[in-house]
Amino acid sequence: MFRCSEVAERASRMIDGELDFWQRANMKLHLALCRGCRAFMAQMRKTKELTELVGAAGDPVPSEDIQAALARRQRRSGKQI
Ligand SMILES: [Zn+2]
Repeated sequence: MFRCSEVAERASRMIDGELDFWQRANMKLHLALCRGCRAFMAQMRKTKELTELVGAAGDPVPSEDIQAALARRQRRSGKQI
């Protein structure tokens, strides 16, 4: 069976489905017995979901530069009107 450090090493690849059958079986066995690694895996999954969400949505929030530029332009056009 894997040790905690080995589970941590493979957590990301486990989520990506890149482990072979034997490694997955070892991971599952360890996770069934080790609460710490279960929590670690849950955290990894959550982080990954968020990363994918942000990646899928592109860049939903304009960067600070763009926001500043937009604000400057709005102020300027406001004076002209
Ligand atoms: Zn563990």
